[in-house]
Parts: sequence; C-alpha cells; structure tokens
Amino acid sequence: MSENKEIKAGMCIEHWNQIRAEVEKQGLTKFVAKSTEDLVRLMNEGGRDPLMGAHNAIMGAVIEKSGMAWITVNPCPYCFVIGQRKANNITEPLDWIEGAVEDELNYFKEKGLIESQ
Ligand SMILES: [Zn+2]
Repeated sequence: MSENKEIKAGMCIEHWNQIRAEVEKQGLTKFVAKSTEDLVRLMNEGGRDPLMGAHNAIMGAVIEKSGMAWITVNPCPYCFVIGQRKANNITEPLDWIEGAVEDELNYFKEKGLIESQ
C-alpha cells in the first residue's frame, strides 16, 4: 500500500442512514437540501440543513472528546465511539444520533419553522 493513501473520514453508510431515518422520523426531511448546490446555497443564506447539522454535531462531539485519534482507528467517528464503549464494557445504547437530531428539531421549532407539539 502507498503511504500517501487518502484518508476518507466521515459517517459510514449505516450511521448516515440512521441519521437520515431519525431526521425523517422527526419530520425534518423537508428542510434537507436536495443537492450539493442546494446545500451550498442554503449555507450561504445562513440556513440550516438538519441532516448535515446532526452529522456535524456528532463529528464535533467525537473530536471534542477524543481529538482526531478516531481517524486512525475507524473512518466513521460513530463506529469509533461504539468500539471504544465496547472496549470499556459500556452496554447502554448510544443515543447521540437521537440527541443530535433532537437539537435540530429544537432549532427549527425555535425559528418557528415547525409547530411545537
Ligand atoms: Zn459508522
């Protein structure tokens, strides 16, 4: 293998899909950008994409907790956290995805873009 192999970091497809499913469950899919161009426009306008928002929040939480160590172990930060918890015999389920999407939901509620129940 080349020493210069590219490091690709990011949520694995399984966890990306879990975030997507949670965004859908909370009724936030209508705020998700339909394309990269859409996403760029949304960000430039100071908007918020709940899918990216939740993803970045989880990524940020992992970096805050463990620095960039995870990247050498597993390119998916969420898989890394799960692996660490297993190694430390922590058995309660990890709920960062639910938590991150709940933060997104609260943001859209506060902005009055979604009705509070
Ligand atoms: Zn993963």
